[in-house]
Order: sequence, then C-alpha cells, then structure tokens
Amino acid sequence: INTAAQRRVSIFGSTGSIGCSTLDVISHLGGREDLPVVALTGMDNIPLIAKQARAYGAELAVTADENRYQDLKNALSGSGVEVAAGASGLLEAAEREVDCVMAGIVGMAGLAPTLAAAARGADIALANKECLVAAGDLFKAHIRQGGGRLLPVDSEHNAIFQVFDHANPETIERVILTASGGPFRNRSLHDMAGVTPEQASSHPNWSMGMKISIDSASMFNKALEMIEAMHLFSLKPEQIEVVIHPQSIIHSMVGYRDGSVLAQLGMPDMRTAIGYALTYPTRSDLPVERLDFSRLSRLDFEPPDEIRFPALGLARRAMEDGGASGAILNGAKEVALEGFITGKIGFLDMAEIVDSVMERLSSSDPLRDIEDVYEADQAAREAARGYIGEMGPIS
Ligand code: NAD
Ligand code: MG
Repeated sequence: INTAAQRRVSIFGSTGSIGCSTLDVISHLGGREDLPVVALTGMDNIPLIAKQARAYGAELAVTADENRYQDLKNALSGSGVEVAAGASGLLEAAEREVDCVMAGIVGMAGLAPTLAAAARGADIALANKECLVAAGDLFKAHIRQGGGRLLPVDSEHNAIFQVFDHANPETIERVILTASGGPFRNRSLHDMAGVTPEQASSHPNWSMGMKISIDSASMFNKALEMIEAMHLFSLKPEQIEVVIHPQSIIHSMVGYRDGSVLAQLGMPDMRTAIGYALTYPTRSDLPVERLDFSRLSRLDFEPPDEIRFPALGLARRAMEDGGASGAILNGAKEVALEGFITGKIGFLDMAEIVDSVMERLSSSDPLRDIEDVYEADQAAREAARGYIGEMGPIS
C-alpha cells in the first residue's frame, strides 16, 4: 500500500505512552524511509530519549528538564544527534521544518511548543488535549494562521472526526462521547473517598500515562474531552453528550438531524487513532488486534452519575462560561491531581478544589492572547494550592 509521500514528523513527549506508540506506528509504516523523525522531546528518562533518537535517526533530541542537558549530551555523544534542553529546547524542536507534529506532552507544559509548531504550519496530531481545553479559539487561530491541519488523536475525538460530515456540519445534531467509567464505575462515594493513586491509575481497558489514567478514574478526563470536543468541532455545549460504555469498543458517535447515529468501533488501542492522524487522509495497514464480533457478547451503556463524578458538571459550567474557564478548570485540576498523587489530598477532594477555584475565578471574558491563558492558568494553580494548604494533611 502506498502510504502517501514522505512526511517529516516530530514527536513532543516521545518517551510517554502516546510517544512510544507513535514511534511504534512509524516503525510499522515504513520507518525512517516514509516518516523520517526530526525532533524528539522527553523529560527525565534520558536513556530512553537517547535510545529513540539513535534508533530513528532524529536530528534533534530534547529534554524538557534544563538540568539534564549534559546527561543527554553524554548519552548521545558520537551519534550526530543535536541536543537541546529546557523550555527553549522545546521551542527549538517546534521550529524544525516538519509536516506533522505529534503533540504528546501531558498537561499545560505542552502548550507553548505546540502553539509554536502550529503557527509554523505543521499539521498538529493532537493528543495533548490540555492545549485546546485551555487555549480554545486562540489555539485554533494559531493553526489557521500556520495553515496546517488539526488532527485529533484522543480516541473519542478521532472517532468523531472519522464519522463527522465535515462538508455539512449543519446536519449534525450532537456528538456522543463514550466513557469507560474507569476503575470506580461501580464504587460508592464512601469507597471512592479512600482510594489510593495506585488504585486510581489502573484503567480497565486502556494502557495510558499515569495522569490521564487517574483523570479517567475521576472522569476529569471526560470533562476535558467535552471541552476539547466543543472547540474541535465548533459545537454548542448542549450538543455534547456523554454515555458510559464499559467495554470501550465504540470510541464515540455523531448523531445527525435525521436521527442517524454513526459510530467508530475498534479494539482499545491508540495506534489506530495515531496512525489515522499521521497519514490522514489515507488509511494505513496497522497490526492492531481486530474486533471479533463472535467473541463480543454485548455492548453496554448507562448514563453517567454526576453526583459521584462531579467533573462532568464542572465541564458544562466551563463550556457555558467560555473565556478563560477552560484554562481555570485545567490549571486547578492539574494542581489537585498533583496533590492527590503526592498524598496531600484525597480522591474526591480533587473535584472539590476545582469547583472552589472555578467558583472564585471563572471568567467569561474572551481570551485576547496567550498571556491571558497563562495568567488564568497561574491564578487557578495558585488558588488550588491555597485550598490544598487549607485542607491540611489527610489522615
Ligand atoms: P505520559 O505521562 O505517558 O507521557 C507524557 C510525556 O510528556 C512524556 O514524554 C514526558 O517526558 C513528557 N512530559 C511530562 N511532563 C513534561 C513537562 N513538564 N514538560 C515537557 N514534557 C513533559 O502521558 P501520555 O499518556 O502519553 O499522555 C500524553 C497526552 O496525550 C496527555 O495530554 C493525555 O491526556 C493525552 N492522551 C493520552 C492517551 C493515552 O492513551 N496515553 C489517550 C488520549 C489522550
Ligand atoms: Mg480519550
């Protein structure tokens, strides 16, 4: 199969779950011949960044940790791979001429390099949903300015993208995001209060980074995805629905005005969405497990419980408020998540904190520029740290 012409690719967050799967997909799609790897970025796993850079013949390898520059330099000595570090290193990676960037950094840390790459005109294969949640229309404006395409990698949004009638968006009534419900789908509130980060990061169907796994357990991941969908597909908040589908076989759906619902199905394997984004609009051969309908005994659906999972209501509030609300929700959530991971607060405190921060700071003033996004993010983080401090140590 002819997989388009050569496409030069950079991977931001190459050492993570999305990054490693992206390199795996590249290997299957002809490797360095068809999809030459230009820049790779990671953080503290220096041996892995170095190994990837050598194996894929990258031009540039970056560690986001400026204190690890020399370590990475040493690890790559004699390889001919250029090395950079810190925030400026990430921006250097974004400046490299490529056809496509896989945005696979986790959290707001990915915003600056992804925006820079977008403004430069690369297609953005977006896994780093926080960019769109926090910067929304501004992020889309950078894409338009650069002239590249925004290709969703998040499995739900990739599914919607695949069944979305892009030529006739007015025929679309709603999108239905599926959610597995995570490891605590059937737990009582009382039980959820005492869960550990380890329990919260064991996802039933998907193997992902730790933060997104915990966000799936609290459904903050679905909350971010609702906001992400609103921006990606230019929808109104009331056009976005969530349904619990524990098997994670239907990745999401689009409902049309005539009552038709189109769905995209597959095994829960991110490589399908990654491959789709890397070679869009062509489809490529991928070694993912095939759906076997004779073994799929059933597909279940249930409405989400917004009492046990208040994140969904918080997302609706952020979507309705607009402006900096997405940045505020996300910034507060990132600090609360860190607080939970480090044992400072309990699982249910995360939503409590985000709620309080949004109550105090939410602003529907339009975002004028990226500085506004960072300002809202910083204010939300500071407020969230304040609430965590007030809560005191957990017993
Ligand atoms: P991960 O934790 O496995 O990897 C994160 C990557 O970002 C690593 O390369 C890490 O070195 C880098 N990184 C972490 N902190 C950084 C910082 N401060 N500055 C620069 N780089 C930093 O995460 P992941 O699961 O691969 O998720 C990456 C993104 O993709 C997230 O936004 C997540 O929500 C999204 N996503 C992931 C999946 C999945 O299956 N893993 C699915 C959908 C969406
Ligand atoms: Mg998802």
